[in-house]
Amino acid sequence: MLTWNLATGPTPGPESGPAAEPSGEPSEYGPRDLARPPTGEGGPRRPVGEGVLTANPLYDTDRLSSLPCPAPDLDVRSPESVTEFLNALTDCLDEAWAAQFRQAGLPYDPPRRVFWTEEGTSPCRDYPSAAGAFYCRADQSIYIGAADVVEKWNHTRESVVYASLLAHEYGHHVQGESGLLEHYHEQRRLEETPKERNAWTRKAELQANCFAGTFLGAVSVTYPITADDRAVVLADASATADPEDAPDEERTHGSAENGRYWLDQGMREQSPGACNTWNLPDDDSLVQ
Ligand SMILES: [Zn+2]
Repeated sequence: MLTWNLATGPTPGPESGPAAEPSGEPSEYGPRDLARPPTGEGGPRRPVGEGVLTANPLYDTDRLSSLPCPAPDLDVRSPESVTEFLNALTDCLDEAWAAQFRQAGLPYDPPRRVFWTEEGTSPCRDYPSAAGAFYCRADQSIYIGAADVVEKWNHTRESVVYASLLAHEYGHHVQGESGLLEHYHEQRRLEETPKERNAWTRKAELQANCFAGTFLGAVSVTYPITADDRAVVLADASATADPEDAPDEERTHGSAENGRYWLDQGMREQSPGACNTWNLPDDDSLVQ
């Protein structure tokens, strides 16, 4: 039995937590990328190679536009209300990120939404799973259970926690669409030990926190997200980070301090360029 508690965080584990690995092992070896491949001559292309991570064109785009995104009232006892909330926020995320990709000259398709109420199967894993929410690159879908997520987050009524979780999973889709995810998976696979592989995973997870922050920051006026709400999501970022005493083999999401740091960095800066967790040659303490 899992106990999820905002104060202490969800039960730790390699695949648990809101910030589950973006695709899981099956998809890495399964269908590669179901998105349109880069179109032929003249069309926008996804970047490839080393620079995908460190110098992605997405990093050169402006702050996310402060589009109107008033949060619908959320009744966490009602799966319909949760689904409606998630759909409204995903509409905003689609609009915000599509604009960034246009500006970067990159192709973009929005993610598919699987806001489920019945158990099921994805190419990455069955659900419900220890991961309260996850992104599966193989079918480019965000999986969140409308009742499951509320239960796993201890029935919190703070809508901003669910918005942050959704924006984090969406951040993995952004990584997928910009070519980051595929390149990072390739590099991670070359590593020989879990410790070395986790160093890659943490950078991806902390970047997703930061991407989530850029969105929350951009919509904070219209949502609205108050100073109290910010404190709540930052506390949640700590709670869902790696536990302080986790062994190296299980450190996939970063320390509580870094989980907060990158979410906060995104909220303050609101631009994807502030989220480059891949190029910190002098200070990799931020991705521990
Ligand atoms: Zn994640």
